[in-house]
Amino acid sequence: KKEKKEKVKDEDLHELGITISRQDDFSLWYSQTITKSEMIEYYDVSGCYILRPWSYGIWERVQGFLDNLFKENGVENAYFPIFVTEKALTKEEDHLEGFAPEVAWVTRSGKTEMKEPIAIRPTSETIMYPAFAKWVQSHRDLPILLNQWTNIVRWEFKHPTPFIRTREFLWQEGHTAHATKDEATKFVYAILECYAKAYEEMYSVPVIRGIKSRGETFAGADFTSTVELFVPANGRGIQGATSHYLGQNFSKMFDLWFENEDKKKDFAHQTSWGFTTRSIGAMVMIHGDDKGLVLPPRVSQVQVVIVPISNKTNSDQILEVADKVFDTLKKAGIRVKIDDRKNYKPGWKFNHWEVKGVPIRIEIGAKDIEKSEIRVVRRFDGKKFQLSTEGLADNLHEELQKIQHEMYEKAVKERDQRIKKSATWEGFMTELNQRNLVLTPWCDKESCEDNVKERSKEESKQAENAGEEVLTGAAKTLCKPLEQPELAEDTKCFACDAGATATALWGRSY
Ligand code: AMP
Repeated sequence: KKEKKEKVKDEDLHELGITISRQDDFSLWYSQTITKSEMIEYYDVSGCYILRPWSYGIWERVQGFLDNLFKENGVENAYFPIFVTEKALTKEEDHLEGFAPEVAWVTRSGKTEMKEPIAIRPTSETIMYPAFAKWVQSHRDLPILLNQWTNIVRWEFKHPTPFIRTREFLWQEGHTAHATKDEATKFVYAILECYAKAYEEMYSVPVIRGIKSRGETFAGADFTSTVELFVPANGRGIQGATSHYLGQNFSKMFDLWFENEDKKKDFAHQTSWGFTTRSIGAMVMIHGDDKGLVLPPRVSQVQVVIVPISNKTNSDQILEVADKVFDTLKKAGIRVKIDDRKNYKPGWKFNHWEVKGVPIRIEIGAKDIEKSEIRVVRRFDGKKFQLSTEGLADNLHEELQKIQHEMYEKAVKERDQRIKKSATWEGFMTELNQRNLVLTPWCDKESCEDNVKERSKEESKQAENAGEEVLTGAAKTLCKPLEQPELAEDTKCFACDAGATATALWGRSY
């Protein structure tokens, strides 16, 4: 009987943990990690997922962080409706062309066909700007700096991936109108800095700031700035967040004009910018390991978990000490949890909190108590050491900051090793197939990027067919990094005969 009981426990442990390594099957690893850590529950509408408290809590923290930064930049929050009329949605042609295939329409209420179908917002330019137009007469009414925290629906056809590419997602979208181009473009970059900070300081994820190529620019924008991320485990890039300069494209369509200081009619210069729950998925992919999630302390719902290690004779005494430690840490502002469940063994609990990525585990056993110590185990690198219960809160605060920082440093190092340079097509393909990002001299032409997409897809397929272990798929520009190295005169584009005008960062991306 006893043997049978043990066996069930073993299976539980197996069930609880991640059973596949990132190298063997990244997408299976990802789905195990986000479900077993209790971040995501699957749902029966394709491309839609349930965000459980373990992930929603992260969103709340990042939301708070960004909201503060926006407000420091003078932005106020508002809320606009989820629905948009066909007339408004179709007003800006380029914008419509970009979004049309992904728009979800409401065509019926109950059993009655609607006279005019209404669309669910895929983004809110066309919902907000008619209102902006009503509010602006003179340059004194500018700038308008608004943001909203909402859900968005884009009926994507590409394969959905929880957080990364979903049909409904949570985001903030900021929309501004300014009197001058200079002011608007400055705002575009101020917001891009907020996004970079959210990734770097909250998620411990490094970013590359850049400008999108023409083909990758937001539909209806003059230019799109972006922060780009890299997932070392599978060699893919991720577009982290984007901040667009819309020029006067929308203001002209929506009659958003004002009287300038010279009493002349002028159209507003606009920006729009968005940051989504994709960021959570990026963080999971970048920091996660074969045991599951690894969370940076600043976003984790629980920063320290206490696991008492007791037997029948000393459990009261150990629990008493564990409770005291819990109170001390809680009072000191550490997000702490005590796992005193009697029906699970310590080994099971270790596993459970490791899968969930809690940055620090504290173990308290009989030997530790004798020495007035506790055992500390860091999730991200597995380092173990003893700490005195004296001054514990301060020391753990410091340790959490260290972990936050070291996770960032590690991610920078792993990424930088994988950014290669190439000035030739052959070199480019070799690096790409080895799961790297590639910096190349480029002609900056849309037709050239289209060719690269096609050629890279074909040639990587051929390499795979020839038995090579390569990453396949079309490569595209992630961005033209803001930090541009100087190009020698007469430098040629790596992919065509034209002269190079910029350095571009290429990769396969989500
Ligand atoms: P956009 O309004 O198209 O510039 O999108 C803003 C940001 O949303 C992008 O930079 C992506 O990081 C993110 N994003 C785009 N599509 C999705 C999606 N289907 N699911 C989650 N995030 C998305």
